[in-house]
Amino acid sequence: MSDVLCDFCHSTWTDDRSMVEGHLGACVCGTCVTEAYRACVLADIDDRLGAPTLPCTMCKEDREQVCRRSPAYPEAVICLRCIKMAAKALSRDADAHWQLPVS
Ligand SMILES: [Zn+2]
Ligand SMILES: [Zn+2]
Repeated sequence: MSDVLCDFCHSTWTDDRSMVEGHLGACVCGTCVTEAYRACVLADIDDRLGAPTLPCTMCKEDREQVCRRSPAYPEAVICLRCIKMAAKALSRDADAHWQLPVS
């Protein structure tokens, strides 16, 4: 479990940092989901601009929709669909202690 890294901030998976798994071992932590949700869902910021060919790190699909790029690791991208799916998974998991950001 400790060798699992968040693709977006490279933090390791610990008991107090929940993770959501994507395809082929990709992972995103709750903190990054919060940031991505704030940026893409609440603020409607599209980080895809300037990187039109990067597929989503989580689903490996190149979707024509809003994406969030990791500020620290620009090759890591999460699409709006994966952000929402990860947010749903985290908010359903009582052990995750994760709350949907509202602002
Ligand atoms: Zn992270
Ligand atoms: Zn995706």
